[in-house]
Amino acid sequence: MTAVKKSGVLFASNNDTNDTNHLPIPVFENSPTFKMALRQLHSVAEHINIDSGVLERLSRPKRSMVVSVPVRMDNGRTEVFAGYRVQHSLTSGPAKGGLRFHPSVDLGEVAALAMWMSWKCGIMNLPFGGAKGGIACDPSKMSMAEKEGVTRRFTSEVLSIIGPHSDVMAPDLGTDEQTMAWIYDTYSMSIGYACPEVVTGKPVELGGCHGRREATGRGVVYCIREALHELNLKPTESTAVVQGFGNVGTVVCQELSALNVRVIAVGDRSGAVRNPRGIEIHALNRHVNIEGKPLKDFPDAEAISSEELLATPCTIMVPAALERVITLKNAHQLRCRILAEGANGPTTPEADEILASSDIFVIPDILCNAGGVTVSYFEWVQDLQRLFWSESQVNDRLRELMGEAFQRVRKEARDRNISMRMAALSLGVQKTAHEKMRRGLYP
Ligand code: NAD
Repeated sequence: MTAVKKSGVLFASNNDTNDTNHLPIPVFENSPTFKMALRQLHSVAEHINIDSGVLERLSRPKRSMVVSVPVRMDNGRTEVFAGYRVQHSLTSGPAKGGLRFHPSVDLGEVAALAMWMSWKCGIMNLPFGGAKGGIACDPSKMSMAEKEGVTRRFTSEVLSIIGPHSDVMAPDLGTDEQTMAWIYDTYSMSIGYACPEVVTGKPVELGGCHGRREATGRGVVYCIREALHELNLKPTESTAVVQGFGNVGTVVCQELSALNVRVIAVGDRSGAVRNPRGIEIHALNRHVNIEGKPLKDFPDAEAISSEELLATPCTIMVPAALERVITLKNAHQLRCRILAEGANGPTTPEADEILASSDIFVIPDILCNAGGVTVSYFEWVQDLQRLFWSESQVNDRLRELMGEAFQRVRKEARDRNISMRMAALSLGVQKTAHEKMRRGLYP
């Protein structure tokens, strides 16, 4: 099985069958993110024993839905947004994955994120396949009423493919607990009874899980603790730089500060700030997330550019914003000992090759940020059983599962002398591939 290029599209080619039978995936043609996900899959396939037909099936999403989302805006005009829901795999259970609101969302990006979700669920041994959704809109420029309109109409448009046993959404970039509450309500109204298990990441009073909002950031920090231990580094002597101060980035900063790691620089879409003595995270949280002021205007720190942020020398670098921010151009400028990928897909394959020849310890995204989907799984289970856990039960179980997953990936990397990313992808892909093989091909 090899990856070949036709009309600019990378897609699986099975050497022992006639190539004309293989359909390209034209809808993903222009997506660098999908090509990146596919390239990762194919490089993993070279190192593991995988049936060529299964690889072909895993190379493309199981189901993709593109919808128009018309919404009456506050000014009385109707705007139509593009919405996407992609289910990469339904083999291991319901499809599971976030919904993002961002102006540059497209089908290819969503398809790549859905594929990564499959590997993530595989590494964590969760009974889900991967999915992702997105709406091309800018939530920072929309009122609550407009966001509610977009969310509810999108939910109605994808109603036929979502459900607690088919596809369960969660928050991602630009969406939050309130978004999930609207999806829960819209879905429940259409089926005639309350169905909290249709989404995760809801408010706790609606059947959400204690600690879900913080779970991704906490999981990132549990992995960082394992890596520090592995490298014989002390938290109290470590410094951190975090890109992104939203859900994931804020919790990462708070949890690192709680471990007495000095957070010396933080950035978001408004810019970045640095203070070598350490940034006071409670004050930064108040400034950005409570008072709504631009992060770059935070007093008691020097404003720096996004480029300077990533080049700041530190022990731990955490990209927790967008994908493809560490590239061929800036990878050699990183001055960290640990790269903990809180965001999905922050490092391009070209940058990864540079990192592989450095002494940077990479905690790959599909392991590092898997705390979110893990606690989403806890939430789904609690909702199905109508039996709820305390926050300490959630956190203890999360710490245990993240620690075990970290050690499984570390062992795979060590035993096979491969990178942490290759080890994580291998475990995730093999789990999904194995289940596909055992289930066989229908009909
Ligand atoms: P969020 O919307 O809460 O925060 C995003 C942050 O990124 C904001 O601080 C924003 O200002 C910043 N940002 C946006 N554009 C930027 C740019 N060009 N340069 C620098 N910063 C920029 O989103 P989130 O939920 O924290 O998600 C962040 C990342 O983590 C995404 O890649 C997401 O897919 C991933 N992730 C999130 C979860 C979750 O549970 N929320 C789970 C797994 C992975």
